[in-house]
Amino acid sequence: MAASSKRVMIIGAGATGALSSSFLMDSSPNLILNMWEKGRGGGGRMSTHRTGIDSSVQAHVDMGAQYITRYNSSRDNKSMENIKNKLFGELLRTETLIPFQGIIEGSPQSATPTATPTVHYVSANGINGVPKYFLERSKVNVKYRTQLESVEIKDESIVLTSSDGLVEEAESLILTLPVPQCLSLKGNLFKDTPQDVLDNLRGVAYSSRYALGLFFTEPVPKTSWTGKYYDDSIVRYMCWDSNKYSLKDDNEVSSLLVHSSVPFGLKELETDKDRVKEVLLGAVKELLPDLPPPVHSYIIRWRYSQVFKGYVGSPGYAVLSSKPLVVITGDAFTHSNLEGCIEAAAMTTDYILENIHN
Ligand SMILES: Cc1cc2nc3c(=O)[nH]c(=O)nc-3n(C[C@H](O)[C@H](O)[C@H](O)COP(=O)(O)OP(=O)(O)OC[C@H]3O[C@@H](n4cnc5c(N)ncnc54)[C@H](O)[C@@H]3O)c2cc1C
Repeated sequence: MAASSKRVMIIGAGATGALSSSFLMDSSPNLILNMWEKGRGGGGRMSTHRTGIDSSVQAHVDMGAQYITRYNSSRDNKSMENIKNKLFGELLRTETLIPFQGIIEGSPQSATPTATPTVHYVSANGINGVPKYFLERSKVNVKYRTQLESVEIKDESIVLTSSDGLVEEAESLILTLPVPQCLSLKGNLFKDTPQDVLDNLRGVAYSSRYALGLFFTEPVPKTSWTGKYYDDSIVRYMCWDSNKYSLKDDNEVSSLLVHSSVPFGLKELETDKDRVKEVLLGAVKELLPDLPPPVHSYIIRWRYSQVFKGYVGSPGYAVLSSKPLVVITGDAFTHSNLEGCIEAAAMTTDYILENIHN
């Protein structure tokens, strides 16, 4: 098969997968690019829950990433700075990103402690609009509800099997799922992976937390904040999601996002989600006693939330096999935010394009 028609499979339609597909199609439009995503839509941890309160009123709440921050990072070389400037410019021009409106109180633990945050942005139709923008831009063929279960590496190709028995072959594979999920894939994926790479991958660790989305049609209490970080044992962050986009507080539906603290998330990781929802709701009522009853609520358990111990010494990816080409990438190889995903995807794309012809 000619190098220009090589099949590349990307696993995961989160920000890193979406950006990787976009970069690859920009640089090498003749590649045959396919993607499998286990969820029913794109976004990954940039996740937005949508609900119809009634037939006429739609509302949404961001359950994972809350806002996109543009950092003035001195770590970036000129080429990476140009890539980020171009992408942020494009996201702003197309109004995929708009400035975060309102006030954030309390202090987040910055995922990029050496960098200075400048501006926060949100995506007007929900944060998953950002990965979706890049999925649409790349026109990658995504098979949703398709969960990779096993990988068999042959001499020249890679055979992928999904949990419901779909089988596809590719010449190169980019894995963007959280590292522990990758380590538990069946097959012989790691047969040629050097031991130091495997040990490094096993050291990658994520925090765990719950996210609760609440929707109200009755008036909600006025607060001095739009988003607030708490030093509470149960609640870490709350945000009036419906007010992130405008300073009006007379929305038909108010939506409130609640993130649990990481210690609570870890302690209750295996607890029934309905029980956790009750406990979280109780804690929210303590902090906002005048909150009316929600008309709808939705909870997510983020077993793999933000990365707290990344892959050590990473160039933005790790090579699991060099022939055929298999790489793993994502925020564990840079940092846990959109800029980290841009870096991971850009460096992975460079590596793939340099090595795909071998
Ligand atoms: C609670 C929370 C708050 C956050 N806050 C912020 C924030 O405010 N700002 C910010 O910039 N970032 C934030 N982040 C981090 C940000 O969301 C991540 O850095 C980013 O989304 C990671 O993208 P990714 O594509 O690398 O991974 P993911 O988004 O995890 O994408 C991986 C994809 O792979 C899919 N997948 C997994 N297993 C399989 C399989 N076997 N087969 C097929 N598909 C599979 C998943 O469904 C997922 O779509 C937050 C994250 C969380 C969880």
